[in-house]
Amino acid sequence: TTPLLTVEGLTKHFPVRRGILRRQVGTVQAVTDVSFALQPGETLAVVGESGCGKSTLGRAILRLHEPSAGRVRLRDTDITALDRPQLRAARRHMQIIFQDPFGSLNPRMTVRETLAEPLLLHGLATPRSVRAEVDRLIELCELSRWHAERYPHEFSGGQRQRVGIARALATRPALIVCDEPVSALDVSVQAQIVNLLQDLQRELGIAYVFISHDLGVVRHIATRVAVMYLGRIVEEAATEALFARPRHPYTRTLIASAPRPDPTAARHRVPVRGGTPSAMALPSGCAFHPRCPLAIDRCRTERPELRRVGQSRAACHLAETVEDNAISAVSADS
Ligand code: SF4
Ligand code: MG
Repeated sequence: TTPLLTVEGLTKHFPVRRGILRRQVGTVQAVTDVSFALQPGETLAVVGESGCGKSTLGRAILRLHEPSAGRVRLRDTDITALDRPQLRAARRHMQIIFQDPFGSLNPRMTVRETLAEPLLLHGLATPRSVRAEVDRLIELCELSRWHAERYPHEFSGGQRQRVGIARALATRPALIVCDEPVSALDVSVQAQIVNLLQDLQRELGIAYVFISHDLGVVRHIATRVAVMYLGRIVEEAATEALFARPRHPYTRTLIASAPRPDPTAARHRVPVRGGTPSAMALPSGCAFHPRCPLAIDRCRTERPELRRVGQSRAACHLAETVEDNAISAVSADS
C-alpha cells in the first residue's frame, strides 16, 4: 500500500549567530538525514533524550521549521515543494498537538470558538452548521457541553489536552504529530489521554508520529519505534521487536535505564552513562562512541549507516553481534 507519510533525508540545521554582526559561529545539526515511511492508521514513536532532535523533526515534517534538505510527502503531495497558500491548505490533513496545550490555545476564546475557528477557516463548516460540528468534536474527545462555553484557564491539564486534541481533529486530519502530549500530566491522566488517542485512531484511522521520552507510554501506544540520537535515527523497528531484541547499544541502554512498571525493579535501573554531547560539536565517526561500552577503533572514524539487521534497521558497526550481555557491560561500567 502507498504510505501515508514518506520522509526522505529530512535535515534541519540551525545556524548559530553571535555578536552585533550576527556572524555565524556554528551550526546546530538538530536533524540529519532522517528517512521513514508511515502507513495510514499507524503509530510511529520517536524516542530519545531531550535535545536529540525529536521535536525539531516533528516540526520539520509540518514545515513549522523549514527543512534544510530532504523531502516530506503526504500521500502523493510533496509537502516540501508547496508554496505558502498550498501549505496552509495541506495543513488541514496534518496537525500537531503539544506538551502544553495552554501555549497553543487562545486564552480569550471559549472552547466553542477555539474549535469553530479551523472549521470556518478551512471551509469545513458554515456559520449554520458549525455548532453541530463543534458538538461532535466535543463528544469525540469526551468533553461535555459545559466545557464548550468556557475558557482554557478554567480547565485541568488533562481537559486542556482534550481541547487541544479536539482542535487538531477539527479538520479531519490523516496525520497528527503528537509532541510529548502526556509528559506534563499526572500518571492517571496520562493513561486517559493515551487511551483517548488510541480510541480516536481506531475510530478515525488517524496516523500518529508520537514523540516521547517515556518508553512505558511508547511501548503501549506505538506500532513502530524510531530511536534518535544527536539528530539521526540510530534504530527503527516494530515495537515488539525493539523491546525484545534491541540492536543498537544506545537503544539497549535506554531500555535498561527506563523506569519499570514493577517498583521493586527500580534498583536495577541503569543510567545512560555520560551526558549527551552537543549537537553543535558532534563526535566523529559514530556519534554515540564516547558513551558506548562496546566501541571499537573503527567507531571513532567511521559513521555507521542505518541498515537492515534482521527485522530492524540499525546504525551500528556491531549490530549483528551485539548480544544480551551488552546491557551488563553498560551497568558494570557506569
Ligand atoms: Fe557503539 Fe560502535 Fe555501534 Fe557506535 S558503531 S553504537 S560506538 S559499537
Ligand atoms: Mg521536545
